[in-house]
Amino acid sequence: MDDDCTIVGASFAGLACAIALARSGMRVTVLEKKVDAGQKLHTTGIIVKDAIDQVAILDSLPAQFVRRISGVRLYAPNLQHVDLAAPGYYFLTTDTPEVMRWLASRAEESGARISYRALFREATRLQSGWDLAEFGTTRFLVGADGPTSAVAKVSGLGRSSQFLFGLEYAYPGVEPPESDRLHCFVDRRLATGYIGWLAASPGGVQVGLARRVRGRQRPAVEAMGEFLDKIAPILDLRQARPASVRAGMIPCGGIVSPVAARRVLLTGDAAGMVSPVTAGGIHNALKHGLAAGHAIADYLGGKREDPSGWFVKSYPRFRMKRLLRFLFDRFQSDALFNLFLHTRPIRAAAGIIYFHHKGVFDPQMQPTDSRGQNPAAASDALTLDRLEREVARIKQSEPANR
Ligand SMILES: Cc1cc2nc3c(=O)[nH]c(=O)nc-3n(C[C@H](O)[C@H](O)[C@H](O)COP(=O)(O)OP(=O)(O)OC[C@H]3O[C@@H](n4cnc5c(N)ncnc54)[C@H](O)[C@@H]3O)c2cc1C
Repeated sequence: MDDDCTIVGASFAGLACAIALARSGMRVTVLEKKVDAGQKLHTTGIIVKDAIDQVAILDSLPAQFVRRISGVRLYAPNLQHVDLAAPGYYFLTTDTPEVMRWLASRAEESGARISYRALFREATRLQSGWDLAEFGTTRFLVGADGPTSAVAKVSGLGRSSQFLFGLEYAYPGVEPPESDRLHCFVDRRLATGYIGWLAASPGGVQVGLARRVRGRQRPAVEAMGEFLDKIAPILDLRQARPASVRAGMIPCGGIVSPVAARRVLLTGDAAGMVSPVTAGGIHNALKHGLAAGHAIADYLGGKREDPSGWFVKSYPRFRMKRLLRFLFDRFQSDALFNLFLHTRPIRAAAGIIYFHHKGVFDPQMQPTDSRGQNPAAASDALTLDRLEREVARIKQSEPANR
């Protein structure tokens, strides 16, 4: 065999997996169809604090590639807003092309070989691995090739069927107001099933929206034009030309099935490893990509069984988040959101989504409305109780699902 493991896709999941395998002494090749890992990205690139805390390779992420965002400003469809924060919690917006190049160089320094301009198309099963035609033979194959995985297709594994579609414009050199907040906009017409956003990044501002993919819809660029009109009172970008456009499908139906078979597994977006509610996938891609690398190294080193059996059981199941996705898809209502934005249950639910249960009910968290007042309503204490119990239940049942 030419390689111990071939990974298709040099993004968050594939590079993390390659780092773990190469550091375990395995011969690893990453096949990437692009000419450079930082080219043509389809992500805003926001990294949540949990990823910084849990993924050790991010410890040395250069400070100039990130910008700290300490809270969320959540806008109802009528542009009334509340500010949300949790003590100690933050997000990092990133210069994502540079982060990706940095991650690729970490993989190469660890000993992995990255083959660019390498479009993976076919694989034939061998007794002890795979024949990848012009890319040689390998003992183990990993699909880290995103939501429309070619590895899944050729190896007969499952593929995502439910998606959001995200479109984002980047404007370098623009500084938004309240730049230490992630501005999130609920609007059923423009961002059905998800949100629009505006975020200060290390080099400027990123503005985007994502919506559920269903049947015939008007083009996303049209919705984006309307979104720019809508947010003009906050930041007027209507005359500015975006320096780059990022767009892509975001799986939102949970982990595909089957996600692995003998000597092949999927990770990251290829596996459907994106939160069905927040549409965040970078943390899962890094964390489970790394873990997959360690599991495969153990298998190839003769220490454990094929990870397609035991390892993939550790993938997040997103049970509660899939339920929330189901409810949001069916019952999203602009009128109700306008009415209830300031109520504690809505703020609590938003806190659960944005801050992953931490500090949501912290008494120091002081939400404010657009008039700078705290509109907490005592009457919804009962609902809040129920939500708190629900959070405790989620915490117990899904420790890995952050
Ligand atoms: C608009 C948008 C904004 C987003 N914003 C965020 C965010 O802010 N935070 C967050 O956590 N998540 C976000 N996501 C989701 C996040 O981007 C993904 O979950 C994450 O990129 C998954 O990483 P991955 O490594 O699994 O796959 P991908 O990033 O999709 O990478 C797959 C790689 O495989 C390569 N490839 C594909 N097919 C082949 C082939 N046949 N041969 C060779 N190479 C191939 C591709 O070129 C690519 O480099 C966003 C998604 C979108 C669409």
